[in-house]
Amino acid sequence: MSGIFSFASELERLHAAGDLRCLQPLEHDGPYVWHGGRKMLNLSSNDYLGLAAERELREEFLAGLSADNLLMSASSSRLLSGDFPVCGEVERLLAGMYGKEAALVFNSGYHMNVGILPAIAGKDTLVVADKLVHASLIDGIRLSQAAFCRFRHGDMGQLEKILEQSHAKYSRIIVAVESVYSMDGDKAALLQICAMKRRYGNVSVYVDEAHAFGVLGEKGLGLAEEQGCIHDLDYICGTFGKALGSVGGFVACSRVVREYLVNRMRPFIYSTALPPLNWLWTLFLLRRLPGMDARRRHLAALSAALRGALQAAGFPSLSGTHIVPLLAGGSNASIRWAEVLQRRGFYVLPVRPPTVPEGTARLRFSLTAGMHMENVNSLVRNILEARDGL
Ligand SMILES: *Cc1c(COP(=O)(O)O)cnc(C)c1O
Repeated sequence: MSGIFSFASELERLHAAGDLRCLQPLEHDGPYVWHGGRKMLNLSSNDYLGLAAERELREEFLAGLSADNLLMSASSSRLLSGDFPVCGEVERLLAGMYGKEAALVFNSGYHMNVGILPAIAGKDTLVVADKLVHASLIDGIRLSQAAFCRFRHGDMGQLEKILEQSHAKYSRIIVAVESVYSMDGDKAALLQICAMKRRYGNVSVYVDEAHAFGVLGEKGLGLAEEQGCIHDLDYICGTFGKALGSVGGFVACSRVVREYLVNRMRPFIYSTALPPLNWLWTLFLLRRLPGMDARRRHLAALSAALRGALQAAGFPSLSGTHIVPLLAGGSNASIRWAEVLQRRGFYVLPVRPPTVPEGTARLRFSLTAGMHMENVNSLVRNILEARDGL
């Protein structure tokens, strides 16, 4: 049998290890979902501001639509006939919000990360990435011609050593990090990274704000706004699919980088643009984003309450944000935790290798501003009761 690959036996192996993934069809009902006849609080969504779940916003948006502007397909790439006026409107608004020269929007955050690095990094480039960056960044680095190394998660000392040892060997170095890490919920030390960058003439910084855009900063621009270093970052990326409640990815950058990407970035060039309908919805929400501070503050209060209660109960705390992991250890333990909490009305899923390192399988609670403090209090009570039964 050895040497003969079989899909079925590979799936068997995943199943035995507790690492098999399956799709779960759900009905959505505001901050709740229905699954198997049970209504559960949705703790697995990235709708951090509760915008995607909110019916009133959709009603307001719909009132401005008619058969004239409700276009469901761009019918081509931006470079052919898919560059509708609304595209430029969204990009100018974004660039203005960041105070950057330009912005460029992509079909998704995944397109953004698999496309930008291969376009901007060549054989003369070293990409230095945090050990925990998202799979899409890793894929982008692999598709590029660049040399690649990683530093231990959040280890600024190791990053500094790498820059010291490598800056003379490469004509360019790109440091690639996330701002809020999707699985630990912790924040990057962007200011420290920017300070290191200033020591060398050939280092630029690429930051993926997927989990912070909309949520952090006074205007919701992300961790770069919160830490006050927007102008030191060369590529500020984000997704519209999480807190903004829409779809698409973006980079805020210089005018020349934008033009370079339009000419060199394959997922931008060779894929049909997002439908105008989606661009209109993004524009509708982006205009309101700076004014959504009350939602951001409510989310911060919910998050602090959950983190504080788990820490007080003796769980190790990694997070400083609205993404709160509960470490279970093994994959099968994380599955048991998820099953128990689902039975108690909380839709939470196990996150297992290879998404997280071996031995750190976990539940990942993702809070949204659509929840009430009572939801969080009840979650905590149920976690503590469940722990006694596990
Ligand atoms: C979700 C995510 C992406 C992908 O964004 P999509 O718009 O969902 O494709 C990219 N980077 C990070 C860090 C993410 O968490």
